[in-house]
Amino acid sequence: MSRPSGAPDETSDVVIVGGGASGLSLAHHLAETGTSTVTLVEAPDGPRRPPERTWCYWERGTGDFAEAVSASWSRLRVHGTDGRTITVDPSPQRYRMLRSTAFERLVHSRLARSPGSRVLRATADTVHDTADGAEVHCTTPDGRALTLRARHVFDSRPLRSLPPARTQLMQHFRGWFVRTDADRFDPAVADLMDFRVPQPRHGLAFGYTLPLAPDRALVEYTEFSRAPLTTTAYEAALAHYCRDILGLGAFTVESAEQGVIPMTDARFTRRTGPAVFRIGTAGGATRPSTGYTFAAVQRQSRAVAAALRDGRVLVPT
Ligand SMILES: Cc1cc2nc3c(=O)[nH]c(=O)nc-3n(C[C@H](O)[C@H](O)[C@H](O)COP(=O)(O)OP(=O)(O)OC[C@H]3O[C@@H](n4cnc5c(N)ncnc54)[C@H](O)[C@@H]3O)c2cc1C
Repeated sequence: MSRPSGAPDETSDVVIVGGGASGLSLAHHLAETGTSTVTLVEAPDGPRRPPERTWCYWERGTGDFAEAVSASWSRLRVHGTDGRTITVDPSPQRYRMLRSTAFERLVHSRLARSPGSRVLRATADTVHDTADGAEVHCTTPDGRALTLRARHVFDSRPLRSLPPARTQLMQHFRGWFVRTDADRFDPAVADLMDFRVPQPRHGLAFGYTLPLAPDRALVEYTEFSRAPLTTTAYEAALAHYCRDILGLGAFTVESAEQGVIPMTDARFTRRTGPAVFRIGTAGGATRPSTGYTFAAVQRQSRAVAAALRDGRVLVPT
């Protein structure tokens, strides 16, 4: 039987476009409240889908995602340019690390247990308001067109360009997951900013070391400046940091991650139509002074899920 033209292929209460940090978080909190059916649309493997990333955030207590947390720290350290250190205990908060694939597994299995909710692998092409909600037009990995209809759509697709701003810096970095031949790290202490690295002519640079075991850590070189570096330049900065500043001795690089996070006072549009909202970095959830996004996205997702449960509409803050 053919479908009448204009009818949606699928309907749910909420469609979330993009299954990264903000999309997964909102899906998780909606599944927890259990009052809305959710379709989470995530791009198929390819250029739109980012590689595995690490998300760190501050949280009290045991937190919502304990089974996906790969490490956490209750002592945090900063190294000045002169080598002096400050170590603090941020309790009652802890600093936690999630790998994006572990978080994705957790949320996907949570959705699989929620009747009427699901994860759809497809590319969202357009999002439109309709008389009683919104529609998302998608293309499936085998090239089929699919229309999803919902009462509310939350869109986390990255913006093509940032809105105009007075200040626009980038936090750009590359990190290595290293394994050292000898024990070199104290797994109890995370080094958030190590300013002993050579400083660039414009902006600032620091090292960041998250120990996972006495012989394993994520070590990053980060700059706050106007433009990213080449991969070769990051690798040179990381090699110098690991060898000459941290004194790691012999080590192997098991994997790497690289990224650019906007640091801007631009105003982001958070509602693009009566039933269409932007979330995550695209909705301005990234803190301009630090680039941290994950913790803000949890607060945002909890508030949106609670509002929908109570029959209200809340523009994500
Ligand atoms: C390497 C890296 C490390 C970071 N580490 C931290 C950290 O430690 N702590 C922190 O707070 N912040 C961190 N950030 C900043 C921020 O938390 C992340 O950028 C975070 O992923 C932003 O979440 P998001 O949902 O806005 O975007 P994303 O997580 O990028 O999610 C967007 C999703 O949309 C999907 N998508 C894109 N286009 C389409 C389409 N057309 N159809 C369907 N799906 C689509 C993508 O596949 C992606 O999964 C980091 C950023 C990077 C790049």
